[in-house]
Amino acid sequence: MTSKDIARLFDAELHNVLADNLLRGLPELSGHGATTVTVKCRECILLCSNNYLGIADHPRLRAAAAAAAMDQGCSASASRLVSGNLDLYSKLESALAEFMGREAALVFSSGYAANTGVIQSVTRSGDVILSDELNHASIVDGCRLSAADTRVFRHNDVGDLERALMNCGGYSRRLIVVEGIYSLDGDCAPLGDITELADRHRCALMVDEAHAIGVLGDGGRGACDLYGVGDRVDIIMGTMGKALGSYGAFVAGSKKLKRFLVNEARPLIYTTGLPPAVLGASLAAVEFVRHEPWRRRETLEKAGYVRKALSALGLNVGASTTQIIPVIVGEASTALRFAELLLEEGVFVQPIRPPSVPAGRSRLRVTVNAEHTYEQLDAALAAFGKVWHALVQTVRACEAQWRSGR
Ligand code: PMP
Repeated sequence: MTSKDIARLFDAELHNVLADNLLRGLPELSGHGATTVTVKCRECILLCSNNYLGIADHPRLRAAAAAAAMDQGCSASASRLVSGNLDLYSKLESALAEFMGREAALVFSSGYAANTGVIQSVTRSGDVILSDELNHASIVDGCRLSAADTRVFRHNDVGDLERALMNCGGYSRRLIVVEGIYSLDGDCAPLGDITELADRHRCALMVDEAHAIGVLGDGGRGACDLYGVGDRVDIIMGTMGKALGSYGAFVAGSKKLKRFLVNEARPLIYTTGLPPAVLGASLAAVEFVRHEPWRRRETLEKAGYVRKALSALGLNVGASTTQIIPVIVGEASTALRFAELLLEEGVFVQPIRPPSVPAGRSRLRVTVNAEHTYEQLDAALAAFGKVWHALVQTVRACEAQWRSGR
């Protein structure tokens, strides 16, 4: 393949995504706080960050990050298995294991690395993975990297999962993978029923708690905590780049699982360890979750307020019950236009389009955090009302078309 061939491929692909209103870009942002962001020199209300507890810019987190950097420098400078396993790792892993009430925790560089690493290494040829159809791309990619077969079941449909399990009797081992809170829909997996199924059919269960850690459950330990099934789940994945306001991810489970992953998980073995500042901030964040439960209460209360108001405007907020509220508008072009008009009104929300969501289900993904004021939320809701008024006919026509095509 010549350079010209590659350039032609780029042109063709970019032309197609542009024509389908699916072109993605990197927005240039500055002045990022918990609730506002500066876009094109204008301060806007930020409604699309995963900083759910509003702590990412908190002075205590900043101080912890700065202290770790001053003490240990800016880089781990090698894989954890070589010379990058700084003592902050063992402090953080002990804190996370204790927080999650599990024997052990293992920190990965990101949630993407954790999901791909775990799924790829714990499943082998002759095994099968049962994966919810709305699972995150990192889970999908973990399944693709695995030598096991994958069966996709309908979203949150326990009957469909059971049918799939019954048809998978011939496999050596079976692993169910679901999310605690679904990242683009804001609904929770029915974890009571799923753990019961996993027990009855003797298969392993992994729950991705990326969006639920710090937010759901009495202790902020996630959806498994909320459903009272934490100790029945074999593998829990949580991230630190969302509610915890830092970066990275962890897997919580048994000591044996940890030892296995240290030997087998390629994204852990073949990558540089996290920098001290990140580990320091993550340690401070775990303390926040423990000692400031009001934050998760506020997050969920404010999200409830926004969800109810958006719904009252006539917008489709799907099955959300959490701090993630989809506003489903149908076509990619409508989602793009909706976001553009909201930005003109001083509200920053991103349109989510295929392939992240199915065709005809494009949406704005609204997220609320503990630091938003009700004045900010009311101003954002007024903007939604104004833009909705302008686009209501287009959205309704698209919804009708989608329903008739189902
Ligand atoms: N799992 C889910 C459900 C996610 O939404 C994300 C990121 N949005 C990840 C995993 C990946 O986490 P990270 O951003 O830490 O790579």
